[in-house]
Amino acid sequence: MNRPAVFLDRDGTIVDDTGYPSRFDQLRIFPRSFEAVRLLNRAGFPVVVVTNQSGVGRGYLTEAELAGLHDRMGRAFAAEGARLDAFYSCPHFPFSPDPKYRIDCACRKPLPGLGLRAAADLSLDLARSYMIGDKADDVRFGRAIGATPILVLTGYGREAREKLEDEKGGAPAVVADLGEAVDLILAREKSARS
Ligand SMILES: [Mg+2]
Ligand SMILES: [Zn+2]
Repeated sequence: MNRPAVFLDRDGTIVDDTGYPSRFDQLRIFPRSFEAVRLLNRAGFPVVVVTNQSGVGRGYLTEAELAGLHDRMGRAFAAEGARLDAFYSCPHFPFSPDPKYRIDCACRKPLPGLGLRAAADLSLDLARSYMIGDKADDVRFGRAIGATPILVLTGYGREAREKLEDEKGGAPAVVADLGEAVDLILAREKSARS
């Protein structure tokens, strides 16, 4: 049977949004992120990072550097007893100088491509999954894949909340940060079981 997952945006959700980091030492991981991921692991959710990385298409970092950064990030979480099960990134940018990345792709959030790829690879039940992020496009992506979106107020969360007010689908659940988002998921799962 397919399993529900928790999808996480990266910048502004797990780590501070600092522009276009290309090296691990430029990442500032939010202090509560380790515990949040540990709790999701313990609850049996695959934890899947879905991230728009147009910095690749813009020429700010290479795909190899991005892969290396995610590898280091995964190891930093592992060192804290937390497991990030997979990373899915969109490297494209419609105005990229490199034709390889200058495409109207289907994987730039809010389009559902990254979620559909993860669902196929990891046998996920998207309808029972959650998407946690700090931008309107994260909420839209969550809805596009049929998951439950949760908006965090770290990163660009406050702007996103205003943007989403008048949008079809209405306001998503809004919480302070990733830690609170995970608390909300675990409380919902618990009440669904009882
Ligand atoms: Mg973000
Ligand atoms: Zn893409």
